[in-house]
Parts: sequence; C-alpha cells; structure tokens
Amino acid sequence: NPALTQFGDKMSHLTGVRAIMKDIKETLQAGVGQQYINLSPGNPVILPEVEELWREYTTELLNGQDFGNVVCRYGDSQGYEPLIEAVVNFFNQRYNLNLTNRNILITPGSQSLYFYATNAFGGYTSSGKLKQIVLPLSPDYTGYGGLTLFPEALFAYKPALDIDTAGHTFKYRPDFSKLNIDESTGCVLFSRPCNPTGNVLTDDEVRKIAALAEPYDIPVLIDSAYAPPFPALNFTEMTPIFGGNIIHCMSLSKVGLPGERIGIAIGEEKYINVLESFQTNMCIHSSRYGQAIAARAIETGMLADIATSVIRPYYQKKFTVVESTLDEAMPKDLPWFLHRGEGAIFAWIWFEDLPITDWELYQQLKQVGVIVVPGSSFFPGLREDWKHKQECIRISLTATDEDIETGMRRLAKVIQDVYKRG
Ligand code: PLP
Repeated sequence: NPALTQFGDKMSHLTGVRAIMKDIKETLQAGVGQQYINLSPGNPVILPEVEELWREYTTELLNGQDFGNVVCRYGDSQGYEPLIEAVVNFFNQRYNLNLTNRNILITPGSQSLYFYATNAFGGYTSSGKLKQIVLPLSPDYTGYGGLTLFPEALFAYKPALDIDTAGHTFKYRPDFSKLNIDESTGCVLFSRPCNPTGNVLTDDEVRKIAALAEPYDIPVLIDSAYAPPFPALNFTEMTPIFGGNIIHCMSLSKVGLPGERIGIAIGEEKYINVLESFQTNMCIHSSRYGQAIAARAIETGMLADIATSVIRPYYQKKFTVVESTLDEAMPKDLPWFLHRGEGAIFAWIWFEDLPITDWELYQQLKQVGVIVVPGSSFFPGLREDWKHKQECIRISLTATDEDIETGMRRLAKVIQDVYKRG
C-alpha cells in the first residue's frame, strides 16, 4: 500500500452510506436466486416522461449549431453561459429576484459544491483557528460525513422531537435552545427537504438559522436537491429562500440527470467567487453536454412542469403506500414512529427503545429478504451518545408499490418478534 498523507488517508475511506452500499451490493450478488426486496436505493427511478424529455433536448443539441462549441471546447469555469442565463431568468421571474450571472455557479453535481464550500469555509484558518461546519439538524445527508479533511470541524446538533404518540408519527425540529452559531462557525449546511428523513424545515426555521449566521457573514448552504422548483419533491408547502448569506444549492440528479453531474449554486457574488476558484483548481468545469440540455429544459419551463406533473406525484404516492401499509400491519401497541413525509424520496422510521441496534435490525431484515438502510450512518458530525441513532431505518420510495407493501409487512413481523424477545 502506498504511504498516504492525512488527506489521502481521509479521502481513501468510504463513509456513511457508501460503506453500507458495499455490503448491500455483496448481499445482492451473493443471493443469486434469492429474491430480495431492495428498499435501499438512493438512485432515482427512471420515469419514462423524464427520460423522453432529456432525449428530446439531446436530439436538439445533436442537430443544432452549437454542438461543436458545447462538446469540443473548454468553457468558462463558472458554467455554460446559456445555462447560467436560463437559471438567472427563470429564478428572477419565478421568485421575483434580482440575480445577475455573477450569482450563479454550475458544478459537477451538488456533492462537489458541498466539498468546495465546506473546505473553503470550514477547517483551520491561516491563524490556526478552527471554523466549524455546522449541521443545525441531525440526522441529515450521509454524504456530508466525507467532505472535510478535519472531522473535528463537522458539528451536528441533536434535534428536538415532535411526537404524535397515538398517530405513530414524529418530526425533527432544530433545537434553537442549543444551536450555537458565532465566529467559530465557518458555514452552515442542511438539506431541505431532508435526505434521509423527508423533513422540511419551515420557512421560519430557515430564516431564524440564516439570521443567527448573518452578523458573522457566515454562508448558509441550503441543500435543495429535492426542493422546488425542480425536482419539487416537497409534499408540503415550502418556499425556497434566497438572498443575504444564503447559498441556495440545487442538483439536477433528481430530475433525471444524475449521470450528467450538475449542481447549481445561487448566492452572493463574494461567495460564488470563492467557490468558482475552488472549482477551477479542482476540475476546471462541469461537463458541458449536460449543461447544454439543462439550459433548454429550464428556459422552456419544461423542467419545472415535469417536476410537478410527473416526478412529485410519483414519489408522493409511494409515501402513502408506506404510510397506509405500516398503519395496517404494524402493531399499535409498539412505539414505532414514521417521520412525517414532507418530501424527498425516502421514508424514515424510528423504533423507540428498540431492543437491538439498527445494524442488527438491518441483518434480520436481510434474513427475510428485505434490504433497508440502517439509520446510524445519517448522523454525520453528531458526537453525542444518543440511543436514537441506533433506532432508525431508511426506506427508499423507489421500489414498486407491491415491493413496498410486502417489505413493510415483513418489517412489521420482524419488529414484533424483536420487541417480544426484548
Ligand atoms: N444532497 C442530498 C440531500 C442528496 O440526497 C444527494 C444525493 O443523493 C446529494 C446532495 C448529491 O447529489 P448530486 O448528484 O447533485 O451530487
């Protein structure tokens, strides 16, 4: 094995869910002949209407004048100009903003955007001070766990819980009595809607977090990978919030382009400039083919349309299948709680006082042919001992209705046994 630097060592390990995905892949491969119900994928479903939309814009690009310019040349590291223009026009019109092209950065996927931001704003300053990357509401996206070279810089806050005991539902809330944002903070980051929980922070909660960071000029990155206007995977009312110290971060992965790797940041020029230079040093720019077809889909309004007419209803219906099957199949006298389904492509279930760990539950579910994701990998940066971390699982809404139903029924049986055995 080659000798590695601290950085090399950190980056050569898989974190969080990527490590579990390896186990899942091996399970699926080893179980040839055994039918697994796979409720783990984070990969979106290929919806025929969405695939067709991208096929049409690709055909247009292939036949158009601009093809050579798009594919055969390097471009500006800020992004492909027509895409930037489309984003500026679309957002100005829809949300009544005054964006200029200096407020936009296109990145190869939004994951890379978080990599730039957390390393530019979080970690050690030249005078040796530690700037924290604050996750105001844990659990949150597992991918935040692998971003920084300095694990001590990542700091997540334990949430408050709103529990509806009779209804077997709950919701995480930021605990403002604990949340500390001050000169030791480098940036703030959260997903809204949230992967894995489906939580949507309220507009008020977002404004409150941004206001805490504002006096220190701390950027607040709002990971909007599931937010309106596209993919619009919110099942509850929510307003995207822009301006000031907020960097609104989007991804085209859940509108059918995960393979093209397109992320979009919208924010004040002073932040965008920092991120753009980071990007130039790292990879020059994002692939221009994906950017070119995205420009057309945004400009025509088709992307926003298909999000609300096709993508949102598809996943929203899946959530109701989870909800109704659990209601019917799960024992009423056990303390299970489904997180309120406010968005994203997952359902999140908490089993209070679960007699085994989430990892053991994951193994037992494998035994009955159901694969879920154990919840403990979704608490990056949360150092506190908290049993709740080992009491949750994530269910993907990408499976068929039948698979979700069967999976939830088997889960109900396993859970009953687990609590009975104690
Ligand atoms: N943020 C969240 C909340 C996600 O769920 C994902 C992917 O699943 C990402 C970011 C990364 O997306 P991208 O494909 O844009 O890098």
